Amino acid sequence: MNNNFYTKFSNGKIILICMNCGKKEEFDDEKEAFDEGWDCPSFFTQVITCGDCSSADFLFKNKK
Ligand SMILES: [Zn+2]
Repeated sequence: MNNNFYTKFSNGKIILICMNCGKKEEFDDEKEAFDEGWDCPSFFTQVITCGDCSSADFLFKNKK
């Protein structure tokens, strides 16, 4: 996945933007983001959500 919500740098750092609330955060790697409660590549492929938002809620909301 490579879009406006997910930016990966050559040094491994990533910037994620929550697709639900728009929160933007930088992490050392995907593992750190995941540990902070984010759903993101490479653990999830369809959605990026922060620790405050649930990807299940986001997907459910957009299915209606
Ligand atoms: Zn969020």
